[in-house]
Amino acid sequence: MPDKDSRYRFLLEKSNIRGVLVHLDETWKEVLRRAEYPDKVRQILGHAMAAIPLLSSTIKFSGKLTLQARGPGPVTLLVVQASADGGQRGLAHWNGEPPEAPLSAIFGEATLTIQIESGKRGEVYQGVVEAVGEKLQDALGSYFENSEQLPTRLWLHCDGEQAAGLLLQQLPDSDDIQIVDKDDDWQRVTLMADTVGAEELYNTDVVQLLTRVFSEDEVRLFDAEPLRFECNCSRERTAALIEGLGQEEAMDILASEKEIEIICEFCNSKNVFDSIDVAAIFRTETPLGGSETIH
Ligand SMILES: [Zn+2]
Repeated sequence: MPDKDSRYRFLLEKSNIRGVLVHLDETWKEVLRRAEYPDKVRQILGHAMAAIPLLSSTIKFSGKLTLQARGPGPVTLLVVQASADGGQRGLAHWNGEPPEAPLSAIFGEATLTIQIESGKRGEVYQGVVEAVGEKLQDALGSYFENSEQLPTRLWLHCDGEQAAGLLLQQLPDSDDIQIVDKDDDWQRVTLMADTVGAEELYNTDVVQLLTRVFSEDEVRLFDAEPLRFECNCSRERTAALIEGLGQEEAMDILASEKEIEIICEFCNSKNVFDSIDVAAIFRTETPLGGSETIH
């Protein structure tokens, strides 16, 4: 059995192919505790939760990496997000139960957006791929082939208890490494990966699994990296959200509700702001009548 909630990077040295394997247990269960998802919504969300740590180990970023799909439905919104140090969260909205596939029937006409926050000043880069193909893994494979020009395949699985994924990516030739039978190697390795089922990914020791599947290669396995559920919402961020509403709208809500209550959909934590809190949010811009004279 792999370590729970871990990511394993490995290299198939003879064929210059990199791989990533992830296993989610509590990380996935934390997401499921926060909403009652219909089966097929749960499935696409679990696939996305397994995909994001695969993406985050192959894309350079320093802030957050977000995968999002928005469409007319039945799944109207899917968003999963990872931090550079192994935290991740996710949620989905739906207006009906989708079929298992294809993506166009799950989201309607939609795009998958991959947003990469990078650099000290939080620069944001966005990659977009159409949400077409049978499964999420197909669309994400196309994303890599388009954006990085590197043949890439993903295999994603989940059930109500765990989620797991595997990624393989052919690396470019370098001065030291030039692979002669590149296409043959890629085909052989991906055909072998096709034989790995969900149960095997969930339950087999990683060394044993990689040795069986890639028996013709030399596998270099790196140390396991821990993954966890983590939400980065906070009172400060929620306050910023209220500030974004503008003072007038915030005051309108307060007039009818007495308090502004904001529940984070990712983690269900609740932040309540009363009229004093709201006044404090806007005080720097427009001091409320007389408040600037109170010391
Ligand atoms: Zn939260």
